[in-house]
Amino acid sequence: MKLPTVPDADRDLVVNETFGPTFQGEGPSTGRYARFIRLFGCHLSCSWCDSAQTHDGSRYDLDAEHQVISVEDVLCWLAAEPRGLVVITGGEPLLQPRVVGTLAHAIRDAGLATDIEIETSGTLAPTPDIVAAVTQFNVSPKLAHSGLHRHQRIRPTVLHQLVTTHKAIWKFVVQDPSDLDEVEDLVSAFGLAPVWVMPEGTDSATVLARMRLLADPVLERGWHLSTRLHTLLWENDRAR
Ligand code: SF4
Repeated sequence: MKLPTVPDADRDLVVNETFGPTFQGEGPSTGRYARFIRLFGCHLSCSWCDSAQTHDGSRYDLDAEHQVISVEDVLCWLAAEPRGLVVITGGEPLLQPRVVGTLAHAIRDAGLATDIEIETSGTLAPTPDIVAAVTQFNVSPKLAHSGLHRHQRIRPTVLHQLVTTHKAIWKFVVQDPSDLDEVEDLVSAFGLAPVWVMPEGTDSATVLARMRLLADPVLERGWHLSTRLHTLLWENDRAR
């Protein structure tokens, strides 16, 4: 009888997909040459989640959507083109803190990327090990339109911890200009900066239409506007 493989929490990543080279599609690094490691699993369930294959068993065959990959194998993949940005995303990458710390340090030590970004919902604090290794946290606290209760999506202690890393940028997924007051409340309450507003949408027409509606109100508040470059280029294709 073949026993199931138990991932080693220090050496094995539970991965949904690895992909690239492509461009970072969101936030301040938009347009940069990037490789992505999308980790499996999320403890939240945002109504508009664009990577639900990482956790939603009602819509996806989760057995087929995850694989266990060693840090060494990920490093071998990255070593083929050791340049640009590496983005560790999800799902929620900080659900696998030990191996993410191992991976980030190994990438840095081997010189396999210029920068390392982690994309997180801001509901789990990064370990000091991870903070030391990465360039930037792209933190995306969820608004009420995610369908989550406030206590699920806003964790004050975690937000404070991320602020004190001095490595966080704050990327809010917005559907409509009326959402911006909610963003402002969070920005004021927790001292979040810099702020990026990004339209929710998984097709280019929606992203462009919402960016046009958001542009002037975002400028008036002194914030940044993010597109979703991968959506403008490739619509909702996976692994782009
Ligand atoms: S936190 Fe991210 S991955 Fe998790 S459900 Fe929300 S959008 Fe999806």
